[in-house]
Amino acid sequence: GAADLDCDVVVLGGGPGGYSAAFRAADLGLKVVLVERYATLGGVCLNVGCIPSKALLHVAAVMDEVKHLSAVGVDFGAPQVNIDTLRGHKEKVIGKLTGGLAQMAKMRKVTVLRGYGQFVGSHHLSVEATQGEGTQRSGATQVVQFKNAIIAAGSQAVRLPFMPEDPRVVDSTGALELKEVPKRMLILGGGIIGLEMGTVYSTLGARLDVVEMMDGLMQGADRDLVKIWQKMNAPRFDNIMLKTKTVGAEATPEGIKVTFAAAEEGGTAPEPQTYDLVLQAVGRTPNGKKLAAEAAGVSVTDRGFIPVDIQMRTSAPHIFAIGDIVGQPMLAHKAVHEAHVAAEVIAGELQGNKELAAAAFNARVIPSVAYTDPEVAWVGLTEDQAKAQGIKVKKGLFPWAASGRAIANGRDEGVTKLLFDDSPEAHGHGRILGGGMVGTHAGDMIGEIALAIEMGADAVDIGKTIHPHPTLGESIGMAAEVAHGSCTDVP
Ligand code: FAD
Repeated sequence: GAADLDCDVVVLGGGPGGYSAAFRAADLGLKVVLVERYATLGGVCLNVGCIPSKALLHVAAVMDEVKHLSAVGVDFGAPQVNIDTLRGHKEKVIGKLTGGLAQMAKMRKVTVLRGYGQFVGSHHLSVEATQGEGTQRSGATQVVQFKNAIIAAGSQAVRLPFMPEDPRVVDSTGALELKEVPKRMLILGGGIIGLEMGTVYSTLGARLDVVEMMDGLMQGADRDLVKIWQKMNAPRFDNIMLKTKTVGAEATPEGIKVTFAAAEEGGTAPEPQTYDLVLQAVGRTPNGKKLAAEAAGVSVTDRGFIPVDIQMRTSAPHIFAIGDIVGQPMLAHKAVHEAHVAAEVIAGELQGNKELAAAAFNARVIPSVAYTDPEVAWVGLTEDQAKAQGIKVKKGLFPWAASGRAIANGRDEGVTKLLFDDSPEAHGHGRILGGGMVGTHAGDMIGEIALAIEMGADAVDIGKTIHPHPTLGESIGMAAEVAHGSCTDVP
């Protein structure tokens, strides 16, 4: 049929995956249409994810840090929080970044089309215009004809079916609205998103409970690191309920009454509790089933993921998918790298550039960070994973109690832990397989360990790399020396 717009590449979704793909494709000379249902670009990450949560976590971290100063003779008195101003600050931060994206799209001549996109054929996407602050549809539809498409439609928070519709039950988006600070708050799900939001609310004055089905918080992180995080954060919590399921919830005038059950047979269930705010943070589900992808020949799994190969190609060879919608880990930095691969492969194929057309996503590792206080950051193999996979590892553990900078900062609870291949074939010079840190600024330092893994560094490479003194990053060099067996002095 007739199309209203015609392009080389249509990108569906304006999050970190989508805008990165659109920008790279435009930079490579392609004609790009970027479709987004919301008024601003940036997706979950900029509008209701990474960025607003970090704006609030920064404020919380400073508030908590100031409390530590009392012990060194500096007192500020109790904080006075104006929650409207704080919310306004967070919105300003978002606005700066989304406004910047709109400008960058314009500079690159990327056509941004506001509306809800669905496939209507192998080379056609219909876009129904949306309006207002949300995604209200107007009925007016345009058809975009494309040579290639990149699906970057992201994910959304999972809702438990038995949760009542009530303003006191929120997901991360609702929690970031920061309407008020509850007295008692339940975090459903002990993952990064729940614990980050819990940190903000608890610093602002809420008492926390957390309920988690598995036997530990922050699944995926090394247990040695989580143990320290949990010890430091114990004062925020009334109850940490592990191996526990949430089985019911009821809205009452006093609050949301939540009932629990043991996750394992023979376990004991905690008593029901009543909360002023319940945050559902039990995971995110991909948006793959809402795009009429089958109309373009794109396979979608039962759970809504879109399977892709290492070039980010779906089951339809001219259509690519990236970001949360293709699978775990659902992280912005993964989406951005996948975006560049998809854009380069398409440009390479359209322009007959073999080198670009051969682009592939083959990162060895993807780092994870919990921006809590202290932060927890990890990348590659953990000790438990190594054990489960039968890989013999040599450990280098460096407690920050021996770091001059951490002591000077009054924050020496941290630990840096590196794992090296210790299989017989490694002959005592095994490469780094994984690492993690718990401590202030851990997230800003984990990139070095990721680089070491990508480069195939061994303990000597890292230990002999001169790190500046006195820094927290020195702990990475020291941990490597510990693993190598040559750490004699303490900075
Ligand atoms: P999204 O960001 O989800 O973007 C998809 C876009 O597509 C959305 O804007 C959506 O409106 C649009 N869309 C979907 N369907 C359609 C359609 N049919 N038509 C038109 N538009 C459509 N990750 C990190 O790396 N670091 C963090 O610190 C971090 N913190 C987070 C904190 C929170 C509270 C949350 C919820 C997430 C956080 N994440 C973080 C995860 C991160 O936000 C996601 O991994 C990232 O946004 C995924 O990017 P994406 O481009 O795949 O999808």
